[in-house]
Amino acid sequence: MKPDYLIVGSGLSALVFGALMANSGKTVQILEAHEHPGGFGHTFTMAKKYTFNAQFHYVWDCGEGQTVNQVLKKLGLDQEVTFERYDPEGFDHMRMPGYALDIPSEPEELKERLFMLFPAHSDRISQFINEVEKTGAGLKRLAPPVKPIELLKHAGEVVCAVQYLNSTLQDVFDKFQLPQAAQTLLALQWLDFLLPPNQLSFYAWVVLFKGYQAGAFYPTQHFAHVINSLVKVIESYGGQVLLNHEVTNFRLTDRTITGVEAMDLTTHQTHEFTGNTVICNIDPKKAANMIGESKFSKTVRRKLNYEYSASNYMAYCVVKDLDLRNYGFGKWNLFHTGHDDLNKAFAQMYEHNDFSNPSFAMTTPTLLTEASGDCPEDCQIVEFLTVANYDYFKQLRQSDRKAYNQKKQEIFDSILDVVEKHYVPNFRKHLVFQITGSPTTNERFCWCPNGNSYGSSLTPRNMGLGRLNHETSLDHFYFCNASSGYPGFAPTFWTGALLYQRLSGNVL
Ligand SMILES: Cc1cc2nc3c(=O)[nH]c(=O)nc-3n(C[C@H](O)[C@H](O)[C@H](O)COP(=O)(O)OP(=O)(O)OC[C@H]3O[C@@H](n4cnc5c(N)ncnc54)[C@H](O)[C@@H]3O)c2cc1C
Repeated sequence: MKPDYLIVGSGLSALVFGALMANSGKTVQILEAHEHPGGFGHTFTMAKKYTFNAQFHYVWDCGEGQTVNQVLKKLGLDQEVTFERYDPEGFDHMRMPGYALDIPSEPEELKERLFMLFPAHSDRISQFINEVEKTGAGLKRLAPPVKPIELLKHAGEVVCAVQYLNSTLQDVFDKFQLPQAAQTLLALQWLDFLLPPNQLSFYAWVVLFKGYQAGAFYPTQHFAHVINSLVKVIESYGGQVLLNHEVTNFRLTDRTITGVEAMDLTTHQTHEFTGNTVICNIDPKKAANMIGESKFSKTVRRKLNYEYSASNYMAYCVVKDLDLRNYGFGKWNLFHTGHDDLNKAFAQMYEHNDFSNPSFAMTTPTLLTEASGDCPEDCQIVEFLTVANYDYFKQLRQSDRKAYNQKKQEIFDSILDVVEKHYVPNFRKHLVFQITGSPTTNERFCWCPNGNSYGSSLTPRNMGLGRLNHETSLDHFYFCNASSGYPGFAPTFWTGALLYQRLSGNVL
């Protein structure tokens, strides 16, 4: 069978694109190297009873009428794939020595809380939050599909946004001279980018911060249900998602990609697959290397020249006979830093591999939905996330497996020391399962080069006008992933949906 769309990789943007195309009558075939679909969003089960999502924690843009909901409606899934909202009074709990701030949905309420903490700086704080609002509104107008009339109607917001094209979050903190502790509290979601304020694009921060303010969500039946529902749509229209198939080469004839070569990882046999159009959900740079970079236009080659985002460390845990709600946990995340300057905290962990004073995120998926399915009733799932350096872990794993495991344990212990001291005394006593992941785990299970977490790094350079999009300069070949769109659950929904609209001519 030669499908209309042969898709390499089953990450979220690929599944969204594939499901929309299948739903509109096109034939779709997906080749996925891993044994589970979903890429970074895949779900795995340990000890036959504990279920973890590899990377997704919380998501935005899932409310009624928002992008994710629009796509689900188009696929007839909106009644089946639903979401639970995080607490709008405080969806992210930011904690640092001497300060606590729960981020609310309402910008005016956020201002009030910051005024209470920093009464001498209320003017600057107010100006900063207003600027964030204006920039966020401007960026919405600038997001594709751009409507020139809208740009004119909202020129003030658009101009406000444009001035920050090359700015880091730190540049804007400095412009408004926010006190250091206020900066740290506002930027404590840094784990959502794995970049500190002095490297992070202001745009990336605004989009995510505003996105979560408008509504932070968790899927009612966990992330696996979202992924499986998209796969089901593809299969119900006769499409295929072939797991354990690693694409090892692309077929190029003149300027047209006609198919790929893939190895069935269960039999180690190689097969040829063809498609009328080939969609590339794997890292674009990696695909370009397979094809030969010289085959791409100069413009695309320039856009392919991005740095990868930093990688991460994850600890997936199960606690038994411990109700975390009694310790201040609920429908929110906890972000902790022991250091009052996130630029320094990041450098200490990422550049010096020193986790003695860690900054990390703690999430509790079991508390976010009533639906069972992630663990037995007397247990709760807890996950910890922080940054980690790929080169360091790669070298350690290759040269000294024991030292590699010790380093993972050292980070875990350092995080648990903080948890027991500040949040849940005797946490370790209740721990019945733990497994940790490093940058090399990402590389092995998500097939991402250098264990990168978010595709291209979210710096102003990569977020600017030269950002890669779906265009490859080759015929019948399109990119569709986080680096050629934007990273995250909602942004990969947009990425898949946008490419669907471009190629089908249909409008969502
Ligand atoms: C630690 C961490 C936490 C995150 N937390 C959140 C969060 O809370 N909320 C949120 O919205 N986003 C989060 N994200 C981001 C989000 O997970 C990703 O941006 C998104 O899932 C990327 O989707 P994608 O479509 O780019 O494809 P990917 O997920 O990158 O999938 C690509 C697929 O291609 C496959 N592949 C690669 N090479 C080959 C090959 N040669 N042959 C066949 N298949 C191949 C891979 O196995 C993979 O399945 C997080 C990411 C990380 C790393």
